[in-house]
Amino acid sequence: MKVIHARCGLAILLCLLVVRFPVHAQTAPQRAIAVTIDDLPAGAANSMTGAEIVQMTTKLLGTLREQKVPAIGFVNEQKLYKLGEVDDRIKALDLWLDNGFDLGNHTFAHTSLNRVTLQAWEEEVIRGETVTRLLLAQHKMKLRYLRHPYLDAGGDLQTRREAEAFLSSRGYAVAPVTMDAWDWMYAGVYEDARKRGDSALQQQLVSSYLSYTTTIFDYFEKVSKDLFGYEPKQVLLLHANWLEAEHIGELIELLRKRGYQFVTLEIALSDGAYSSPDQYVGEGTGWLDHWAITRGHPLQNEPVFPQWVIDKSHELRRQIPAAASN
Ligand SMILES: [Zn+2]
Repeated sequence: MKVIHARCGLAILLCLLVVRFPVHAQTAPQRAIAVTIDDLPAGAANSMTGAEIVQMTTKLLGTLREQKVPAIGFVNEQKLYKLGEVDDRIKALDLWLDNGFDLGNHTFAHTSLNRVTLQAWEEEVIRGETVTRLLLAQHKMKLRYLRHPYLDAGGDLQTRREAEAFLSSRGYAVAPVTMDAWDWMYAGVYEDARKRGDSALQQQLVSSYLSYTTTIFDYFEKVSKDLFGYEPKQVLLLHANWLEAEHIGELIELLRKRGYQFVTLEIALSDGAYSSPDQYVGEGTGWLDHWAITRGHPLQNEPVFPQWVIDKSHELRRQIPAAASN
């Protein structure tokens, strides 16, 4: 009996080791995310020279390439037309394709579908295709995605569905967003601090941005699990600005530590979650919100954006009108 007991004990011990080992060996869960970058050639293109836009783009894409992170940039072609600078601004777009990234349409003038008639908005989409389509064709690529400005996808269901049918007839898929830490709100303040050489404020903004990103991911990863029983491949919304150009490496590191692998938008959208029923209409918001509201369970206790950054941004906008957009 004693021998059997000892064997049992050993077996139990081995079982415990086998069971426990994989749990300890597990580092982070397997997650995937697509990086999408809006407002090309630059969020603040109106207050930047063409040369500066090229410099910022080179820096941003350099890190993405080094880190082997695929990305797609969404273009507002209106920002290309500045006298004497058109070549530089188009060159900034071309850098995306030369470096193996993709481009999509974000309408010509960043027009909200919720603020103009459907017909006027459709014209904005078509007007926004000209240069991007040409550049893509030179790289044997096609214009495949549209990102709604302000994430405004239609103020009523009929408009939303008609816009979707129009987009699909022109070969577009809508590019949804599931993760958004409002980098554009930080970016305006960051770029102003950068111009003034206020590196203390720049660092404070970067820390706050990364910490708010963590809060957003904690929250929406849980929401994802609650909605789907797993975490679908996510789509991250960023913007073309100096904050990302100089700090996207830290953001990538933060996400890798959470277990994220970086995938193309196409791969992210192959996740079944993106064909879930979506009847959302109203103010632009993320797709996890869309799905939750469609199911009749609006999200509760969403993270609150740091008020001090909003205050600083408003202060700036009072000094320089029309400085920021999302
Ligand atoms: Zn935008």
